[in-house]
Amino acid sequence: MGIETNLRQVRDRIAAAAARAGRDPESVLLVAVTKNVPPDRINEAIRAGAPAIGENRVQEAESKWPEILAGPERHMVGSLQRNKAGKAVELFDRIQSIDSVRLAEAVSRRAEAAGRKIPVLVEVNVSGEESKAGVDPEGVRGLLDGIAGLPGILPDGLMTIGPLTGDAERIRAAFRSLRRLFDALRSDPVGGIAMRHLSMGMSEDFEIAVEEGATMVRVGTAIFGERP
Ligand SMILES: *Cc1c(COP(=O)(O)O)cnc(C)c1O
Repeated sequence: MGIETNLRQVRDRIAAAAARAGRDPESVLLVAVTKNVPPDRINEAIRAGAPAIGENRVQEAESKWPEILAGPERHMVGSLQRNKAGKAVELFDRIQSIDSVRLAEAVSRRAEAAGRKIPVLVEVNVSGEESKAGVDPEGVRGLLDGIAGLPGILPDGLMTIGPLTGDAERIRAAFRSLRRLFDALRSDPVGGIAMRHLSMGMSEDFEIAVEEGATMVRVGTAIFGERP
């Protein structure tokens, strides 16, 4: 199946999931995750109207992006090392994977030096899987408190990777728990931080995520096919 068709199908499935939840499909940003996808295929997705693209490695973005068409927002969705903070600020419009005060400080410092304020999400490990990046749900308020005054970043939401399971109800429960935390942070904000975005859902579970309130989904395989 071609990229344009896949993209349209993913958009239709987002719209259907949004409708089931009584939500506006326009309230969900589709981030096409382009890791391991060569530039010509990324550009195909951009020509077909992909509104945002996501990479999970700074180096890969740096090497591919000279060949990438302008237009879409560029999101960093993978774990970021502090020593790559400067490059990340240069390359990306948003960083979805802030999981420590020290990383946020490094990003803020580099963004401030570049005269920017970069939007960031806090990555939360809702499933409790050891292998996963992200701060524990109990640690989110403390982390937000620690990064609230940093001048170079604009924290405005939460991100998670769903549990690695085929059990739809476990996935739904994880997304729902992050949504609850998100709502709690909206009604009782930390340090004046206005929560706007909830990034959850990938190829296998983005419909559940939209039903549970995601405002960003990160979809790779369902658009570009299996990664080599
Ligand atoms: C690879 C990746 C995705 C997309 O995964 P697919 O299953 O291919 O849709 C989403 N988010 C992150 C953080 C990723 O690394």
